[in-house]
Amino acid sequence: MHTLLGNDPLQGLQFDNRFTRELPADPTTDNFRRPVNGACFSRVRPTPVASPRLVAYSREVAELLDLHPELWDVHALTEVLAGNRLASGMDPHATCYGGHQFGNWAGQLGDGRAINLGDVINRHGERWTLQLKGAGPTPYSRTADGLAVLRSSVREFLCSEAMHHLGVPTTRALSLVTTGEAVMRDMFYDGRPKAEPGAVVCRVAQSFTRFGHFEIFTARGETDVLRRFAEYTISTDFPHLGEPCTETYVAWFDEVCRTTARMIVHWMRVGFVHGVMNTDNMSILGQTIDYGPYGWLENYDPDWTPNTTDAAGRRYRFANQPGVAQWNLLQLANAVYPLIEQTEPLQHALAGFVDTYTREWQEMMAGKLGLDSYRADADEALIAELLEVLQLTETDMTIFFRQLGELHVHVENDAATDLLQPLAPAYYTPKSVDDDCHSRTVKWLNDYLQRCAGDGRSGVERRAIMHRVNPKYVLRNYLAQLAIDDAEQGDYEKISELLEVLRHPYEEQPDRDHYAEKRPDWARNRPGCSMLSCSS
Ligand code: AMP
Ligand code: MG
Repeated sequence: MHTLLGNDPLQGLQFDNRFTRELPADPTTDNFRRPVNGACFSRVRPTPVASPRLVAYSREVAELLDLHPELWDVHALTEVLAGNRLASGMDPHATCYGGHQFGNWAGQLGDGRAINLGDVINRHGERWTLQLKGAGPTPYSRTADGLAVLRSSVREFLCSEAMHHLGVPTTRALSLVTTGEAVMRDMFYDGRPKAEPGAVVCRVAQSFTRFGHFEIFTARGETDVLRRFAEYTISTDFPHLGEPCTETYVAWFDEVCRTTARMIVHWMRVGFVHGVMNTDNMSILGQTIDYGPYGWLENYDPDWTPNTTDAAGRRYRFANQPGVAQWNLLQLANAVYPLIEQTEPLQHALAGFVDTYTREWQEMMAGKLGLDSYRADADEALIAELLEVLQLTETDMTIFFRQLGELHVHVENDAATDLLQPLAPAYYTPKSVDDDCHSRTVKWLNDYLQRCAGDGRSGVERRAIMHRVNPKYVLRNYLAQLAIDDAEQGDYEKISELLEVLRHPYEEQPDRDHYAEKRPDWARNRPGCSMLSCSS
């Protein structure tokens, strides 16, 4: 049974549950699976678990919530974060949303295993929603169990924080707990289910609202609920846009197009592939949300997707992400149309996505090369050729760009081998760097250095700037898997270590160089390292 805490570890926190106070609630409070019409959410309690244990927490997120460091020694806090207890002021609920999955309208989805506990207002007056992922079934669980396994929870916890420290807009993760209960999963949907340790992540964001929240009400013709949800969203998450009215809705959609474009530019900068860019996994705040079968490009391959569920169509492959984001925004445009009833401003905003994306991608690429700005005449061809050169042989994207910053040392010495030398660690099979690959790379490097010489920055300056754009440490798929392998044996050390390393992705961390190494050969085709699925 849940207990409202006498010794409430969160009693100092101020909850302000505007979502449940202002939006229409599902009148049914029994927890069974069903279509929920005419409502934005259903009240539902997390399902208590056998023996919760705290595995890791993010001290930065704890600070956002004004949680005192000593609280982490209090078991009652772990119980709250596992869903066994509620703190006073919480109003747990699951929200109703729909979505387009892999290009098709999927109807009602909703928080099938996410339960919002409530909104904390911190001492700076900021609103942060706490959400448990994997805390048991809700009315939106459809045919699934509402639970999450340790492997996917480790991945969500670490990646949320890694992305934040990389400067990529993202939801955050406060904590990771194991439940002490087993969860059955058929990882590759091949009829071989196995028992895995269960876990719960406490996610934190200003809002967990998705494109699919708006889609569901329009699909059902519930324009009143749509309007109330849009008004709520604007006054809570976009207050700078002013009172909701037709112009405000247009300005809002325009802003969503631009923030989404910026998020994708960041993904392309750090080599992140989301893996399941369904409209229910797109945040209205332009933040990365729902870390499932995501992955990081190791060798630069624009066609790569980590998601085996998407292997046939590769809809969500690296290079397709901007196009998919635009397609998803088009679905959002259709969803908000009843509020605006004009196509022209929506089309204009969608065109704004393309403009913003194109301009900021160009600036981002110039930044990765350490150029002071993007000059179309010189840089369009330079960047296009680079993206070809990177594919001549398996070339680690992260290492390549990081090492490019080291090139200045060799400027005076133009011998071809020396020029290539800093880049050697980026090549997966050095033997495959044949004459053609070698000469094209050297030619590109010479063009690049000439371009750099033209822009007046010293090599030292350029290196410093590049090292703030090109991370040294990212959550390589195999690193996450090594941490998971240990965690499944009860050893959580690598999770803490990775969390530490990834707090400073742009800094040199001499004792931790091994975390910046390219994927070892054993990880090339290992499940969890290069192949993931939606099973989590
Ligand atoms: P995802 O592909 O993880 O974004 O999930 C798509 C939909 O399925 C969302 O409505 C999720 O809440 C739901 N879902 C995914 N996994 C589970 C699960 N184990 N139990 C209940 N619902 C789930
Ligand atoms: Mg999702």
